[in-house]
Amino acid sequence: MSRRSKQRAAREAAKKHPKLFAAVVIILVIALILGVCYYFFIYKKKHPAPAGAPGVVAGSVAEIASADLSIHFIAPAVKASGDSALIKVGNTEVLIDAGPNKSNTAEIADYLEAYCTDGVLEYVIATHSDSDHIAGFVGASSGGKRNGILYTYRVGTLITFDQVTEETALYNDYCEAIEYAKEQGTAVYTGLQCWNGADGAKRTYYLDEAQTISMNILYNYYYEHVSPDNNNHSVCMLLSQSLGEAESKHYLFTGDLEEDGEIRLVENNDLPKVELYKAGHHGSKTSSTNALLEVIQPKYVAVCCCAGYNQYGAAEENIFPTQAFCDRIGAYTDKVYVTIMWDEATDGFAPMNGDIVFYYGKSESEAEKSLKLWCSNNSTVLKDTEWFQKNRTWSGV
Ligand SMILES: [Zn+2]
Repeated sequence: MSRRSKQRAAREAAKKHPKLFAAVVIILVIALILGVCYYFFIYKKKHPAPAGAPGVVAGSVAEIASADLSIHFIAPAVKASGDSALIKVGNTEVLIDAGPNKSNTAEIADYLEAYCTDGVLEYVIATHSDSDHIAGFVGASSGGKRNGILYTYRVGTLITFDQVTEETALYNDYCEAIEYAKEQGTAVYTGLQCWNGADGAKRTYYLDEAQTISMNILYNYYYEHVSPDNNNHSVCMLLSQSLGEAESKHYLFTGDLEEDGEIRLVENNDLPKVELYKAGHHGSKTSSTNALLEVIQPKYVAVCCCAGYNQYGAAEENIFPTQAFCDRIGAYTDKVYVTIMWDEATDGFAPMNGDIVFYYGKSESEAEKSLKLWCSNNSTVLKDTEWFQKNRTWSGV
């Protein structure tokens, strides 16, 4: 039957059975309305656009990519948290950690693709062996091929942790990924080798030709000693930027270092006041202790966590970012930013600030240089967010 004769037959059927025809039309319209409602009110809420997707970044990529220095905290599209930070200086990139799950690797890779356009990460730091920090280095496996960052990017120098509390299956996969990277020419050193300048490793790596921006591996007591808490094994790094005339700015990354590790970090290193501090251990009550904060006095703080998500069946006092963390950090700054939050209604994640990027604009004169902030979702400080006002109290500055 031709299309035209089909249409004629349908018209005749409608004339013969007008009520039946009207009922079918009404059912179809109701189904369409229900479908649209489901998509917008249920499906989209359960499947929000990943905060780190390149589409969300678009618009600011060019400005940020051309900055003298940009520091990115990548928001994973998952309610469990993790750490993944990118530092970009010209064509030199440093990736610190790649969390939180093997299945999130593609999102981290998508984000990197916008900024690392030559497929080479000059430096990678793996702070410690917990999955929310190294899973993305290994990645998911499909058809015998892994999509982990160590398999898909060429890595110049990889700085890894010295100790593990436990040799997990993921840790073994990570060791395999490191062997693969070595075969491709990656130089692999531990935090301790860097500190000691041993076997070709360096304590300080310059990220630009003019040697104004340096990545300094700090001394952590737990490079040489095993801690029952794996977080204490974190490789710690101070990024320093010379802005001429004896002025320098500093940015501190301590992975998931805990209280004991922080106290020793302060004792063993001459730490300066810092512009930016990546909150230790996702804003836990056992990190960002007064011993560290009174020395570094951070102006800006980025917390890589899913605010309010009870990831480990934890007691309220352990849910990130913790009240204890907020109380301590509040004495120094209210410029605290958080990547994602738990959305109770959908039991999923929602962006909080989203991807958080600190950078220096290219066009400014040396004298006018100031740290700029760009977030993929919004740039509301933690204490002013709806989540904070419902769940925490602020007693700080
Ligand atoms: Zn962690």
